[in-house]
Amino acid sequence: MNKSQTIKLDLYRRIPSLHEFSTAVGIIETITDVAKKHNATRIQKVELIVGEFTMLNADQLIFAFEIASEGTLAAGAEVTITEQKGQIECKDCKYKGDIKKKKKNVDHLIVDLTNIFECPKCKSNNTDISGGRDIYVNNIEVELPDKNE
Ligand SMILES: [Zn+2]
Repeated sequence: MNKSQTIKLDLYRRIPSLHEFSTAVGIIETITDVAKKHNATRIQKVELIVGEFTMLNADQLIFAFEIASEGTLAAGAEVTITEQKGQIECKDCKYKGDIKKKKKNVDHLIVDLTNIFECPKCKSNNTDISGGRDIYVNNIEVELPDKNE
């Protein structure tokens, strides 16, 4: 009789979530396009502005960027991220500005955007997100080929 054996392999490897990964791919497409137009040979630095409501995790995004940029002009580029604060607009009292999170330390992965934002002025939940939903590539630093070549 054959004795089958089961073994457990400890991996503990971080896998970027689809959200971060597809964002990283989008960023890389954009910056490699620009870099190619300038005949750059390599992208050295990337500065991103990430809205609070994009629900992107900065560490995960950088990790995804490292994987997705392999073999592209952006491989090995240094990524810096600046967070842009979220803004809401209240439909009841017309308040427009920063949010006040209803719950503290909510896990961003399970946050339901529709009901955590309360108007800080009139306490209404009848609010709209008016800023902080986007991600921008603020600037990149590229290496150009030697002019004497
Ligand atoms: Zn209000």
